[in-house]
Amino acid sequence: MISDSDPSLERQAPTAMRAGPSQEEIRRHNLGALLRHVHLGGPTSRAELTTRMGLNRSTIMALTADLTAAGLVREELPRDTGRAGRPSLVVRPESAKVYVFAFDVGVDRVAAARVGLGGTILDRRDAVRHRGPFELDEVVGGLASFARQMHRKTRSDTVCVGAGAAFAGGVRNDGVIRFGPNMGAYDVPFGEELARKLGLGLTVAVGNDANLAAMAEQSRGLGVGSRDLIYLHGDVGIGGGVIAGGHLLGGHEGYGGEVGHMVVNPGGRACGCGSHGCLEAEVGERALLELAGRFGQQVGRDAVRAVVDAADRGDIVAQEALSRVGDWLGLGVANLVNVFNPEIVVFGGMLREVYLGAAAQVRSRIATEALAASRERLRLRTSALGDDATLVGAAELAFSHVLADPLEALARVSS
Ligand SMILES: [Zn+2]
Repeated sequence: MISDSDPSLERQAPTAMRAGPSQEEIRRHNLGALLRHVHLGGPTSRAELTTRMGLNRSTIMALTADLTAAGLVREELPRDTGRAGRPSLVVRPESAKVYVFAFDVGVDRVAAARVGLGGTILDRRDAVRHRGPFELDEVVGGLASFARQMHRKTRSDTVCVGAGAAFAGGVRNDGVIRFGPNMGAYDVPFGEELARKLGLGLTVAVGNDANLAAMAEQSRGLGVGSRDLIYLHGDVGIGGGVIAGGHLLGGHEGYGGEVGHMVVNPGGRACGCGSHGCLEAEVGERALLELAGRFGQQVGRDAVRAVVDAADRGDIVAQEALSRVGDWLGLGVANLVNVFNPEIVVFGGMLREVYLGAAAQVRSRIATEALAASRERLRLRTSALGDDATLVGAAELAFSHVLADPLEALARVSS
């Protein structure tokens, strides 16, 4: 606890009065804001940017000229507007020329993509990952090889401005995987090693897959405009990304939002984390397959889908398994609703299937366990970005430094 007489506070040097931002700082901020508009919103007319950003026309023109000179956007005459008079030029992101590499590492699959400014997936590679211990060299080697294949196909006038990766486990802010119980990955310097293997002079930003998917749904999916959203991702385990008041809840070192390890059933099923009765242990793939009497036969998304299909066809064991899992899922969501009062809860990954197969149980648990005021405007949805939510999130993570300060980011990659 920090008291008023904490000596560590007294030792701090007095900070100077901070002057307001300089003209240059304002310009850099505005360059990033304009680029973010066209990156997320697509081609936008100068007139529209003037309105949305609350800046005057000459400022928008100057900012656009700077971003055009840097090769980040281009201006074009719009297609027939159907209106008389001089049309406002449309500002487009240079999607084919400016790109990032995005990577996704799940228990059963890995993916790599080249994603253009504006969010266009220009090229991608997917591979099945066989369950078993996490071998850093093998995973990183595979992803780097995919990236090199895609890099070789690019034209000489393209520029790679960053790289981002999603991982199904706890990731520290510096890109070290601290825990991935479903892959047996602990304290692995994943970001650093992937950057070294890529050999493109780029750092690789790494994030928890559900956190990144939450950001992706908020920036490009069904959460656009929402400031309070929770994304629940089912891989083999359950991950969560909590956006509260417009900000991702990262926690002190980056492990915030691990709702899969929230205990919903004390003394319940053993969890890979060492505890019992975690949401992940009661709702994850293994629980569903065991309850449905199918564990050890098929694994992965197809196995989960098969249970939901069987329940649809009237298989009573499958129906009961889904109902049980849906009950625990509803309890978990009810707790989250009470704590965070989200506007939207999104079910992604295999939880998409589980929710679609057990929506009635999930809803009924929330109705009985969550505070009435906290749930009355709650919307439950399945992911709009589908299986790409985590990959899209990794791309957004890679673009984030470019959107924060476009000219500085470009200077860094071209030096
Ligand atoms: Zn756990």
